[in-house]
Amino acid sequence: MMPEIEILEESEFKIKFILKNASPALANSFRRAMKAEVPAMAVDYVDIYLNSSYFYDEVIAHRLAMVPIKTYLDRFNMQHECACGGEGCPNCQISLRLNVEGPKVVYSGDFISDDPEVVFAIDNIPVLELFEGQQLMLEAVARLGTGREHAKFQPVSVCVYKIIPEIEINENCNGCGDCIKVCPRNVFEKDGDRVKVRDLMACSMCEECVEVCEMNAINVKETNNFLFTVEGTGALPVREVMRKALEILKSKAEEMNKIIEEIQ
Ligand SMILES: [Zn+2]
Repeated sequence: MMPEIEILEESEFKIKFILKNASPALANSFRRAMKAEVPAMAVDYVDIYLNSSYFYDEVIAHRLAMVPIKTYLDRFNMQHECACGGEGCPNCQISLRLNVEGPKVVYSGDFISDDPEVVFAIDNIPVLELFEGQQLMLEAVARLGTGREHAKFQPVSVCVYKIIPEIEINENCNGCGDCIKVCPRNVFEKDGDRVKVRDLMACSMCEECVEVCEMNAINVKETNNFLFTVEGTGALPVREVMRKALEILKSKAEEMNKIIEEIQ
């Protein structure tokens, strides 16, 4: 059976889906590709021209690096693959400038980008506070990178999965309800004089129910289905992160195929 994806819940920056008929290796590769291989923009270095705030230059630079930037993958090259040879040019990097004076709380939305569409993804993140007479003038330079290189380039803040189990309750069940009491996730409920599964997705396969059941009526099995929860940072819509991750896996598989063909 071919792997399949069934989407359960979706908004621009959060998605829940089931990956069906997949091996644990495929599920994990998919997770890793979304986290570490799909590129996103982040601030890479900061030129600080004037800083009379209470914050060290490097603290400001670090904070800016962690603020997600709206990413358009087709508009920028990876810097190390760019025709400029990694020097930095408009095809592989972008500047966000700031020139402000206190008293003022500086927000991510105060930065002026070379490209009005490539800006910090969320505009009300406080970066620092300037008091009377304090000034800050800087240029933050952003580029594409991957989570493999640095966590600041990860397009997802949450990317987790769990195996969806199969729970069988056989005819030995006498409805004692011990499993209902012992289950930390509230998976079971009373069903007449027996017990039934109320919420399969909640099961974490701890098997407390199997141990407590004196009738040996419960059987919890692993399946080839995985429940994924993915939340984006705001850099890219999560659906695009998924699509790009699958593209990356496909091209890796094709490369592997080529190697196999060459060996034969
Ligand atoms: Zn370039």
